[in-house]
Amino acid sequence: MKLRKIKVIMIDAFKPEYLQYAPYLKSLTEKYQHGELDMGIGHWSGVDILFNGKSENIAVFCKTDGKSSLHYLKYFSWLKHFGGFGRFCINVLVNLPRWFKGYELFKTGNIPIDKLHTFEICVKRHAAKNENVHFQYFGELDNLGHAVGTKDNKIKMAVREIDADLSKMDFDILFSDHGMVDVNKIVSVPRTNNCFIDSDIARYWGTPAEIKAIKDKLPFKDGKIIHANKKFGDLVFLAKTGVLFFPNFWSRKPVKGMHGYDGKHKDMKAFYIIKKEGSAKNLKAEDLHKLYKQLIDERLKTE
Ligand SMILES: [Zn+2]
Repeated sequence: MKLRKIKVIMIDAFKPEYLQYAPYLKSLTEKYQHGELDMGIGHWSGVDILFNGKSENIAVFCKTDGKSSLHYLKYFSWLKHFGGFGRFCINVLVNLPRWFKGYELFKTGNIPIDKLHTFEICVKRHAAKNENVHFQYFGELDNLGHAVGTKDNKIKMAVREIDADLSKMDFDILFSDHGMVDVNKIVSVPRTNNCFIDSDIARYWGTPAEIKAIKDKLPFKDGKIIHANKKFGDLVFLAKTGVLFFPNFWSRKPVKGMHGYDGKHKDMKAFYIIKKEGSAKNLKAEDLHKLYKQLIDERLKTE
């Protein structure tokens, strides 16, 4: 028996407040269950939780106890001397094996080229790309939100275009993976030989003495220590919502919008709508996972 696939649409970085520029989506909210979505802390876990029920991935890059799948990059450290061309080659070297495996592709941004081989990419295949789901993705709002922030006219126009596209599409679940926060402060954090500086999470590995020395230098009025799996850092420091760590491992210039902060903040809230009769109801990623599971299971009964 071949089961119908659940149709899922993800609009990267769609904030609930963007609904005002999306007349079609707005009209659907009058009939169907929808609301704000708390997708948790960090840069990946929400999507994993939605589809798999759980996740510890607060970031894309981590450490591994075993041999890193990026270990071969140590033979290409010399590419750091070749500027943009060197970075392009590194991105190809990182992603070519991943592309063959159907894994998510990632640009390496500003990550020191001679350090890349010491990390692992903890994200493999996108959780939505499974046999039960027909998955469609809109990425423009994420790129734009980082570049121009959330209040720019370009955002309104992009939302209108996406909304027009959506009016010709069908779905069972539509969701965004996070909101977007306008950056209001830029702060530099310590850089060590064994660290990963995400845009809003600074992560350090080291001996207790080394970690203590880093702690003494962290800007505690602009962030706090959070607990995470050790593979993401012996010390993990999360920026206060709206604070951008810069310099960081992602961009050469500061960006205007960011996400990855605490998912409870109003600007970090994502959005969902599920095609079943209902009204407004705010959920956490875990709750939406249950609704997703129900849809998957109901197919078995009805088909
Ligand atoms: Zn983003």
